[in-house]
Amino acid sequence: MIAHPLVMGSREDGMVASQAVADKARTETGADFDAVVIGAGVSGLYQLYRLRELGLTVRVFETGSGVGGTWYWNRYPGARFDSESWTYGYSFSQELLEEWDWQEHFAGQPETLRYLNHVADRFDLRRDIQFNSRVAAAHYREDTHSWEIALEDGRRTSARFLITAVGVHSAPTLPPIPGHESIRGQSCHTHYWPKEPVKFAGKRVAVIGTGATAVQTITEIAKTIGHLTVFQRTPQWCAPLHNARITPEEMQRIRANYPEIFARCQETYGCFIHATDPRATHEVTPEEREAFWEKLYGEPGFGIWMGNFRDILVDRSANALISDFLARKIRERVKDPAVAEKLIPKNHGFGTRRVPLESGYYETYNQSNVKLVDLNETPIARITPTGIRTSEAEYEFDIIIYATGFDAITGAFDRIDIRGVDGASLKEKWRDGPQTFLGILVDDFPNMLMVMGPHAGLGNFPRAAEYSADWVTGLIGFARERGLTRIEATATSAAAWTDHVIAASEGLLFTEVDSWMTGINRNVEGKQVRRIMRYSGGHPAFRQRCEAVAADGYRELALA
Ligand code: NAP
Repeated sequence: MIAHPLVMGSREDGMVASQAVADKARTETGADFDAVVIGAGVSGLYQLYRLRELGLTVRVFETGSGVGGTWYWNRYPGARFDSESWTYGYSFSQELLEEWDWQEHFAGQPETLRYLNHVADRFDLRRDIQFNSRVAAAHYREDTHSWEIALEDGRRTSARFLITAVGVHSAPTLPPIPGHESIRGQSCHTHYWPKEPVKFAGKRVAVIGTGATAVQTITEIAKTIGHLTVFQRTPQWCAPLHNARITPEEMQRIRANYPEIFARCQETYGCFIHATDPRATHEVTPEEREAFWEKLYGEPGFGIWMGNFRDILVDRSANALISDFLARKIRERVKDPAVAEKLIPKNHGFGTRRVPLESGYYETYNQSNVKLVDLNETPIARITPTGIRTSEAEYEFDIIIYATGFDAITGAFDRIDIRGVDGASLKEKWRDGPQTFLGILVDDFPNMLMVMGPHAGLGNFPRAAEYSADWVTGLIGFARERGLTRIEATATSAAAWTDHVIAASEGLLFTEVDSWMTGINRNVEGKQVRRIMRYSGGHPAFRQRCEAVAADGYRELALA
């Protein structure tokens, strides 16, 4: 919701109002800053660092009161990443790599937040970040080739370049269940988890949702809960994380191997250390297949998803076999066969939605104080002052946790009133799906650059974000060296990239499934139709394309 829509004033009005944000007006460009970056998460922090190196004046606006983005907000119990920590940290600074010791192979939210705070301090980034500042609107001005930016509290500023570093999951969504506000106990979306610890001992708790966030939350709180009820609409195919602490000796080895680790991440489809196995599922005997899958199931991280046979995400019969393997695992781990069946996805195959990694998730359902409610059988009718009413029963709760996800990828853009040439609205332009050039530029939105925007490749986020920010920095550097003040994707280049992104996802089974990866959020109006939201051609191909554009002097762009 935009509380303060930006109304374009005269040049003078804009400058007067903007003094609340900028100490002094810049004379060179006429704008307050060379660049404004939206977001101080993993990508925003690095983008700031790189632009500073280029000599730009930069202001980062961040809604939160601290750095970290995803890791600042998502403090829910059990929050941690599914990327190996030592592949998740920044790679740009040897000093940083030398001095930071990861404690766990898959670091929890507190450790990751500490890391990002360390980075902010280490590189003195905070002085250019304005916290508690939500960008409400950004409008392009053709007369100055710059952006006018309005914060939710009414303050304004201007910049030649508008750089979005808003992440992929930063627009949380609540289900439109009636009675939300009536609950007398606590209720919270996992994204807005309070900074103070929440005590679960003896409490009756509800979790709505069973995505990656819910899987972590449920597993963690089940350890101390009084009673837990999980409201599930769609079960997920989860696989073990196999997290462990990192010993000092291991950390030494990891440090010595950083060049190889990062080089490997560059080569793989999703920037993880896990690379697809070149064999097809049916090329091996059933015994070999079973042994391979047992091995992957027993290993840490995303190997079972990213390091599996090359056809499991495209070939229906291969996908059915790996799904059957995972279903057998669930049946082995969950004692009550009826509950196990409810936890086995029936409407999508393994890996066609984002696979949550877990640390004892299935075993929580063996606890006598954990109950699974299948919302397909008994939907929620309303939230009541004392709990939740389904079509069948009345439940009393002290705490309701909404692990109901995000308006992913484009949601954070939709929540800002972004207007390009002649007042064109970005939200309107993307109504039927994003159209971008390389996931970085949009035609009709000059000087707006997106770090990890829609139609970029997802995966191990920092690896991809570093590349994206480097490319953006290269382009801005190129423009400044030549005195160019206007950078824009042409309609032709954006259409060609958009077509390529759509073609790259053809034949992939995930496109046939509802999830945030296909742009579906049943809680958001207009997000009920599947769309191609990200590039599925893999990071090596993505980088190759970006490199070619740069090597060609960015001739595919309109530069002035
Ligand atoms: P999500 O995967 O979109 O899951 C949302 C859950 O809420 C789904 O189970 C959904 O059911 C349910 N839900 C939504 N609206 C509902 C309603 N009205 N009634 C009942 N259930 C409802 O969101 P998420 O779990 O927050 O995860 C989002 C992404 O964030 C992940 O896929 C991952 O990329 C990232 N993430 C990463 C990590 C990590 O690295 N370890 C951890 C957490 C999150 P349906 O499926 O039926 O819609």
